[in-house]
Amino acid sequence: MGFLLQADTTIYPGAATIILDDLVDSGATRNYYIKKFPHIPFFTLIDKQKEKTKDWIVFPWEADHPMGEDTVQQNIIRQLQYIGEDPEREGLKETPNRIVRSWSELYKGYNQNPADIMTTFAADTYDQIVLLKDIELYSMCEHHMLPFFGKAHVAYIPKKRVVGISKLARLVDIYARRLQIQERIGEQVTSALMNYLKPQGAACVIEAVHMCMRMRGVSKQKSIMGTSSLKGAFFTSTGARIELMGLIKG
Ligand code: ZN
Repeated sequence: MGFLLQADTTIYPGAATIILDDLVDSGATRNYYIKKFPHIPFFTLIDKQKEKTKDWIVFPWEADHPMGEDTVQQNIIRQLQYIGEDPEREGLKETPNRIVRSWSELYKGYNQNPADIMTTFAADTYDQIVLLKDIELYSMCEHHMLPFFGKAHVAYIPKKRVVGISKLARLVDIYARRLQIQERIGEQVTSALMNYLKPQGAACVIEAVHMCMRMRGVSKQKSIMGTSSLKGAFFTSTGARIELMGLIKG
């Protein structure tokens, strides 16, 4: 944002008009003013291009802003400005704080460790498939930071140990509540199961809709993405795989 400072020649005879900018970042504002008012000198406090820096600048007066020096909130304010919004208008004043608070839920998986929930129990060896299906899944795509959501089906075939069935849902949540791609969630869930439970096999089948596909880009309104991560017996045995798919559909 540049300011045209009109000198008051009644008070300061002979004073000149200048354009003053706090920050030259991309240089777009400076180019605009230099072109529009070629006869008026342009000044800036900080010229990031001249200083060849990409550092985030916190001005002294920003420390007095209601957001304080919270650069995360400052960052969101600048994003709002970038899309053409007025961050000061009533509906948006609290938005930066609300967004940051929502992150603690959307991205809580970063603070969670599967080791903390994967308490296993000894069990007689048996060859049944243990399946928890239709686990609600909410995640954020790492390419666009837009939601994708759907269902996960998690299964394993025990060897000597089992785990509480609700832990399978917790496991999905731990990996989904991060910036993700769908394939990786399945891979991480089955890897954790193989690692902590050492079963004969582990599977994670996910069906999800991606808002980055529905709202933008290819705009495929109806498409659902399906992925399946199969390990151990589910990978090597066609029979186990067919039975699993039958249980999920049934
Ligand atoms: Zn995406």
